[in-house]
Amino acid sequence: MTTLAPGRWIGILGGGQLGRMLAIAAARLGFHVHVFSPPSEDAVAAEVAARATRAPYDDREALEGFARSVDVVTCEFENVPAAALEFLGAFRPVRPGPLAFAVAQDRLTEKRFAAQQGARTVRHAAVDGPESLAGAIGAVGLPAILKTRRLGYDGKGQAQVTTLAEAHAALQALGGCHLVLEALVAFEAEFSVLVARGLDGRSVRYPAVRNRHEGGILVESEAPAPDLPGPAVAQAAHLAERMAIALDYVGVLACEFFLADGEVLFNEMAPRVHNSGHWTIEGAQTCQFEQHVRAIAGLPLGATGLRGRAARMRNVLGDEARSAHRWLSEPGARLHLYGKSVAVPGRKMGHVTFVDG
Ligand code: AMP
Repeated sequence: MTTLAPGRWIGILGGGQLGRMLAIAAARLGFHVHVFSPPSEDAVAAEVAARATRAPYDDREALEGFARSVDVVTCEFENVPAAALEFLGAFRPVRPGPLAFAVAQDRLTEKRFAAQQGARTVRHAAVDGPESLAGAIGAVGLPAILKTRRLGYDGKGQAQVTTLAEAHAALQALGGCHLVLEALVAFEAEFSVLVARGLDGRSVRYPAVRNRHEGGILVESEAPAPDLPGPAVAQAAHLAERMAIALDYVGVLACEFFLADGEVLFNEMAPRVHNSGHWTIEGAQTCQFEQHVRAIAGLPLGATGLRGRAARMRNVLGDEARSAHRWLSEPGARLHLYGKSVAVPGRKMGHVTFVDG
């Protein structure tokens, strides 16, 4: 196993806040960071990195230059095209590897994969056009959620439907094919489990996190997840670890679950650091960003226990960023702003963490 020496270069694909916090953690461990992000996006990660390339993910020349300038490549964005990852893999190790992305980029593949690892998933059916809608509704029931199989995030690319007519309208609005219909789950709780797996195959996991979403967007996370039955958390953690092994995963992997009628249902996974792990910056012995850097650099993984009794993270969304400095007068609040220029409603502009001593 080769360990990355201090002074070596880490390449991050994606220029968002996750890349920004990864770059800060990497710099603290003595690495240099090169961020590759598409020209159309606010590259808030590039602001804190030693080097930046702005080019589309299909620009082979730019990708090759990026790869040659770094020692290892990782992603902060899960929808980096598989072709770009395969291409980069010919030059440098890509950690986690393309398989995790191929699985996570397609909701149907992801559910099938999770089921193969022993997960129960939300009742669902593939929808590939108007002719498959009635059959899917018959199998899944109503109300349901119609989702694009690819490229959905923060509640985008999905619509709740209560009638066949609404489902037809949603189908058109979502592009007409490559969709999945999911039963609307009346869950008691949403929670996530973050595991990290090192180059040597050893893994660690963080305490489970209870999450609250509004309109598909994460609003708040609490760790350790309050009021969740221990066996449910253990089952989810076991599954996340199995998935990491099956993917020969290196880095931090986030798995999201519903608890419904006392049963654990797998919702989705993210092959990267995750919003529900931001509390770890102040609240855990090793933050998720440093943990990911340690994993991809072949370094020993860090302890994942809580520093205090509990931690709570709240996202700063859209316009809330304008008045976010008010958190600085709140005792115990730790504010992180991402430096994004445009505060679109619901956009993740920053977060605030509170740690209970
Ligand atoms: P997703 O991007 O699929 O994780 O959806 C974002 C959020 O929407 C989830 O965290 C839930 O709060 C909600 N959601 C998604 N799918 C379902 C479902 N099948 N039943 C109930 N709520 C859902």
